[in-house]
Amino acid sequence: MDSQLTITSIMEHADKIHGASEIVSFTADNPEHRYSYKDAFQRTRQLANALKDLQFKRGDRIATLAWNDYRHFELYYAISCSGQICHTINPRLFPEQIEFIINHAEDKLIFTDPMFLPLLEALKSRLPTVEGYVVLTSEQNMPDCTLENVHCYETFISEHSEEFDWPSLDENTASSMCYTSGTTGNPKGVVYSHRSTVLHSLVGSLPDAMNLSGSDVIMPIVPMFHVNAWGTSYSAPLVGAKLVFPGPKMADGETLTKLINTEKVNYSLGVPTVWLALVEYLNASGNSVDSLKSVVVGGAACPLSLMHAMDKYGIYMHVGWGMTEMSPLGSYNKPMEWMKDVSEEEKDAYRVRAGRMVYGVEMKIVDDNNKALPWDGIASGLLMVKGPWVCNGYFKLEDQPALDKDGWFDTGDMASIDEYGYVVITDRVKDVIKSGGEWISSIEVENAAMAHDQVQEAAVIGVPHPKWTERPLLIVIPSEGADPDKHEIIKSLEGKIAKWWIPEDCVFVEEIPHTATGKISKKDLRERFKEYAY
Ligand code: ADP
Repeated sequence: MDSQLTITSIMEHADKIHGASEIVSFTADNPEHRYSYKDAFQRTRQLANALKDLQFKRGDRIATLAWNDYRHFELYYAISCSGQICHTINPRLFPEQIEFIINHAEDKLIFTDPMFLPLLEALKSRLPTVEGYVVLTSEQNMPDCTLENVHCYETFISEHSEEFDWPSLDENTASSMCYTSGTTGNPKGVVYSHRSTVLHSLVGSLPDAMNLSGSDVIMPIVPMFHVNAWGTSYSAPLVGAKLVFPGPKMADGETLTKLINTEKVNYSLGVPTVWLALVEYLNASGNSVDSLKSVVVGGAACPLSLMHAMDKYGIYMHVGWGMTEMSPLGSYNKPMEWMKDVSEEEKDAYRVRAGRMVYGVEMKIVDDNNKALPWDGIASGLLMVKGPWVCNGYFKLEDQPALDKDGWFDTGDMASIDEYGYVVITDRVKDVIKSGGEWISSIEVENAAMAHDQVQEAAVIGVPHPKWTERPLLIVIPSEGADPDKHEIIKSLEGKIAKWWIPEDCVFVEEIPHTATGKISKKDLRERFKEYAY
């Protein structure tokens, strides 16, 4: 049958079949909010009625500036299933980037958490397309503000009917959008469709990916403003899993531990920094998180030392690789049956990789001449992808094609792939270190340095060298209370990485800059060390 793959179909299925599954949220105005999918979709219909009164057109962009919680969840469905585009904005970006994004997307209405009101008040005179604001709170917690045409969310939806006749949408209708963090140039808008979202949710839930089911309790720590919380806002309702939303307390080990233990969370998602914060809290407090069995870590390479630290608490870390332009899932790391017989070292060598591509995503690695390289685990080249949830262009940038003439999307990542399809991300192309004409993987050097117990965080950048053009420089934040010796740290890399990859120098810093999506900002580090000379 010609049945359309729409987000509405996920919502209607979850409403009918998984109505009793719970959503628990920590929000700024609710230390513990608890309701069922049934309640969520009833409020979603009230919200859809409220939006209908404002007479938006198909494809109009309605923005959110919000943490992970139940109101944000309602917005995801009400906006997309009404035929508008749910535009999630990352509040951690610089105000100038947020201003650029709102204006570029031509957002009509902004739903915001109360804590971002000062940001919007500062920008309001420069946001010509924005007709109004809705603050995600109740009347008694509504702060004073200077914005015009501002509503309180609970009042905005309260008077409306709980019945709503959802429009029949073509599956290729645009549903949501997210801007890349724009480490080079302005952020670019990636638009997802109902179809791409449904297919991504189906494949993301498979056993060799996130393995989601109605018996799971999932806590997405990755923000809902960052690639749809890696798809869990859709895949959890698809399978009927209980959802636990940590609100603004994303990297707060104590809150996360409390939520995991009280709600019996068994699966969670986040960037390495989040897991580092959790382990540090568990180590310091003596607490444990017994229900949490596995997590996916992505967004940046995960050091093996962190995986081992999480192993001690019974939590297995699976690496996922992807990007905003891929909805985000590209590959996922699950052990294969034959691996049960290999040594622990070999198992470790596999588990830190970016995993194997999931069904739907095609990959190839190419050299400088766009010639495909072999999958031998050695050749490293530019990673190109194709698939039904890979973007084919950026919003309003028709003059900047995202695909090559054969329809491949350039990920900007360097990778090798082995005979079993395991991908190793060696670097971002723009961060690659080329020494004496050969590449050094900064990610592998960083991971090797992170294995030292006096290293809290490590970053490696290329700096100019008179003989080798470029050499790696190791930049380290020492562990709390440690006073490491740089020669000893450099020596500890021997045997872990190729000899000629070992940096000649290591500098200690108090802070390593991160981007708005939690990745080490190599651009800022290169700027900071631009005078450094080998
Ligand atoms: P997200 O962080 O949600 O995956 P972004 O678009 O912000 O999406 O960033 C994508 C980039 O992050 C990738 O191109 C890659 O460089 C890096 N990245 C993502 N996952 C991994 C991983 N598992 N290992 C190494 N780098 C990763």
